[in-house]
Amino acid sequence: MSGPLVLRVLASAGRVAERAAELVRSVLRAGDLGIVIKENVNDLQTKADRLAQQSICTSLALKFPKLTIIGEEDLPPGEVDAQMVEHGFMEEILGHKCPAEYENVKEEELVVWVDPLDGTKEYTEGLLDNVTVLIGIAYKGKAIAGVINQPFFNYQAGEGATMGRTVWGLLGLGAFGYVPASVPAGKRVITTTRSHSNPVVSACVDAMEPTDVLRVGGAGNKVLLLIEGKASAYVFASLGCKKWDTCAPEAILHAVGGKLTDMHGNSFEYHKEVKHMNSAGVLAALTDYEYYAARVPPTTKAALKP
Ligand code: AMP
Ligand code: MG
Ligand code: MG
Repeated sequence: MSGPLVLRVLASAGRVAERAAELVRSVLRAGDLGIVIKENVNDLQTKADRLAQQSICTSLALKFPKLTIIGEEDLPPGEVDAQMVEHGFMEEILGHKCPAEYENVKEEELVVWVDPLDGTKEYTEGLLDNVTVLIGIAYKGKAIAGVINQPFFNYQAGEGATMGRTVWGLLGLGAFGYVPASVPAGKRVITTTRSHSNPVVSACVDAMEPTDVLRVGGAGNKVLLLIEGKASAYVFASLGCKKWDTCAPEAILHAVGGKLTDMHGNSFEYHKEVKHMNSAGVLAALTDYEYYAARVPPTTKAALKP
């Protein structure tokens, strides 16, 4: 296969995420989630997280051996069942023209950040549309492309509806796979965590003077709410989110003109040596980012060291 590498990696990631989404659905159908507690009871891993990561990382590494791939889950090395390896590409992505600045990027220059299942807590509680599979692609330390697969999209729409979708984006090209929309004028809808809140998180949400607050799981899910006009800003004034949570969502949001930073307004870096924790929280908006950045209280900033 020929064509610019960035498009081939992204098209592979798109298909690989679809396969991971199938695994996420099938583990739930089978009913044995195999839950493991990681740091604490709000930080879980299930069989779906494990299988999806094995499938994603093995599939990408076989096709692109010089990529740096960093996955969320700490898994023992071992053979991965050939059945779990995905060789395909999302044809739709290959059909696009690569932006000139990424035409000559080499495999060894890319870092891929994988969250095999974002919103695990919500997955175990049956809040299925909060769940996403995230594959972000970074170049020169910057999030440039990403895939957000939502395995249970439409799960309440009834028979006949196709379950699951792939939203993807590339800087300089745009984002695809969803219906763009804006929050109605006069509304300030803040989306934030539902399972990792604390007084600092709540105070910062209040400081935005929201008309509505959407407490939902997942970083991928919250950025989908932004680009679909269901939320105005994603405000999370706490450590806890990691680079694999923000890389793909950030790339997609930036590809459509939005902005995602920490609570101080600092951009995130995604080179391979960067620390994984986003210690100073997450602030993101599609439009009016400056409004929200200006309202982050000094006490919030003081509580969150980058
Ligand atoms: P949330 O908005 O709470 O769903 O968090 C978005 C992402 O960040 C998910 O992958 C969470 O697992 C992760 N996260 C946020 N806060 C924490 C925390 N305190 N401990 C562990 N993971 C967290
Ligand atoms: Mg996550
Ligand atoms: Mg995860």
